Amino acid sequence: MNIILLGAPGSGKGTQSQNLSTLYNLNHLSTGDLLRAEITANTPLGQQAKTIMDSGNLVSDDIVIAMIANHLNQQGTLFDGFPRTLNQAQALDTLLATHNNSQIDYVIELDVDQEEIIQRMLARGRADDNEHTIRNRLNVYNQQTKPLIDYYQQQNKHHKIDGSGAIEDITARIQTIIEPTS
Ligand code: ADP
Repeated sequence: MNIILLGAPGSGKGTQSQNLSTLYNLNHLSTGDLLRAEITANTPLGQQAKTIMDSGNLVSDDIVIAMIANHLNQQGTLFDGFPRTLNQAQALDTLLATHNNSQIDYVIELDVDQEEIIQRMLARGRADDNEHTIRNRLNVYNQQTKPLIDYYQQQNKHHKIDGSGAIEDITARIQTIIEPTS
């Protein structure tokens, strides 16, 4: 089983990914975490990515697609923060078909009010969490990532859930999509 968590920055994808990857024994792949690990290790890729991430823009498709290809294994995967562009979504379909003979099963969109998102991110205080960058990341999300909703709706894979409230309630909402009648 392969799942994509979709949602604006700060919508809680990382938190829900941890719960879901434990519940369903999935390989949790977060491109944000992988990129931050490159920055911490001070690799050439990390140095290149840092400036882009600090501004709130997207790292190039080639880089993140290659990172994902390197981390796919035979386990089912939970994709967190990837894909973020149509180009990435199409590349992912091809990767899964050729490497794993599999496909995306569920795309779960976490729906959170924009004002709540800004408050959450300011409270989180990560390096790229200042107000200017946050606004840019929300714009980037609206322009480049939102079209993915259509892409997956056309494949009948898109499910939108309310991403506000208690963490475990949100997890339970996602479970009702993955385990419909239990
Ligand atoms: P958030 O969901 O809060 O935005 P992430 O950790 O997912 O946090 O992403 C942080 C930054 O890492 C993004 O703003 C972007 O610069 C970069 N990044 C992460 N995933 C991708 C991706 N799939 N494509 C391009 N850039 C990415």
